[in-house]
Amino acid sequence: MKPLRPGQTLGILGGGQLGRMMTTEARRMGLRVKVASEPGTPRSQSLADETIDVERDDSEPLHRFIEDCDALTFESENWSADLLEEVSRRVWLAPCVAIQRIAQHRRREKEFVQSIGAPVVPYLVVESAADLAATRDWEGRDAILKTSQFGYDGKGQERVTSFAAIESAWKSFGGVACVLEQRIAIDVELSVIGCRGAGGEFVAYGPLLNVHRRHILDLTVSHARFDPALSREAIEIVRSIMEAQQVVGTLCVEFFVANGKLYVNEMAPRPHNSGHLTIEGCIASQFENHVRAVAGWPLGSSEFRQPTAMVNLLGDLWELGEPNWSAAHAHTDCHLHLYGKSDAKAGRKMGHLTALGTNARQAATRALQARHAVAERLIDAELPREIAEFL
Ligand code: ATP
Ligand code: MG
Repeated sequence: MKPLRPGQTLGILGGGQLGRMMTTEARRMGLRVKVASEPGTPRSQSLADETIDVERDDSEPLHRFIEDCDALTFESENWSADLLEEVSRRVWLAPCVAIQRIAQHRRREKEFVQSIGAPVVPYLVVESAADLAATRDWEGRDAILKTSQFGYDGKGQERVTSFAAIESAWKSFGGVACVLEQRIAIDVELSVIGCRGAGGEFVAYGPLLNVHRRHILDLTVSHARFDPALSREAIEIVRSIMEAQQVVGTLCVEFFVANGKLYVNEMAPRPHNSGHLTIEGCIASQFENHVRAVAGWPLGSSEFRQPTAMVNLLGDLWELGEPNWSAAHAHTDCHLHLYGKSDAKAGRKMGHLTALGTNARQAATRALQARHAVAERLIDAELPREIAEFL
């Protein structure tokens, strides 16, 4: 691939916040950006030079969209891999289609992760009546049934502890392909975001400590106190995954730590919510490095300038009306990001807040306090007790 020149066009499939933050970086570095946004998405969400409605997985409009694109990337693992493969024959596309195909499907993802020697939580495949019958062996085990495709933020998941519950959950999902995962006692969750350049160079952000609330990422903190061997192992797993599939661009791997041991939960071949704190925290953010990789440029440093923390701003914060943004701005050591979304639904990611500190605990406390200030009656500012030992 020939490196892009300023003024050339980067096409981004997806008009959500990830596409928006890629757009900012790409335009700053002189590229023209064109976004394929799902019909109905408000234009206020896009910061691109040009934004076009393209129904996801609709071939004809996508082929028209790419006509004047010099490189292509995507912000969601839900674009059909077949369609991406088709367009990748006409225009340079990164990350590669193969990794998209794997990440789109929990069974394929687990099989691939195991094939490179990385550990996953014990699981069973539930794709047929015979598979379902075999789950009788798990009677009484604490488990989660997860649809293999199109799940996010806890959607398409049900906790089950009996065969009857597995059967009824599977039926309620319409009998689609699922995996049944053992529910483990998690000590802490972390992610590593890797970025691999077109020439094979590799940088990593993290491990980053993540706290989920009701299955949705709530807080991410850099510089947490993880065991150094475990941190190295997590980074090496990400490097191996990217090498195995020759991924160019960004890939996030989410891990569980249970009993001091690392398990791969899932991966996403794109910038990730847990990497939003790299915008202010790092010399080159995950979005900048993603664009650099896709454009065929050398990567920037993934080094953190300072310990950094991020909290998500979910639609729930709007429950009692517009949050108090001036209170957020009054936290002069915090950075507010709002994604331009028009309707605030519960659980919907509307924005985030990033804070820097002299240590991880201070950064996390600042971010939590700033969020508390915008909606005092709805959210507290407490540092989650379960992560205190890591900060
Ligand atoms: P995402 O938005 O990250 O794609 P998702 O809906 O795909 O979310 P998962 O990442 O599979 O869901 O799970 C969401 C959260 O639920 C995890 O981060 C973890 O807190 C909890 N969880 C998931 N699987 C397990 C498990 N096997 N044992 C214990 N907790 C789990
Ligand atoms: Mg997840």
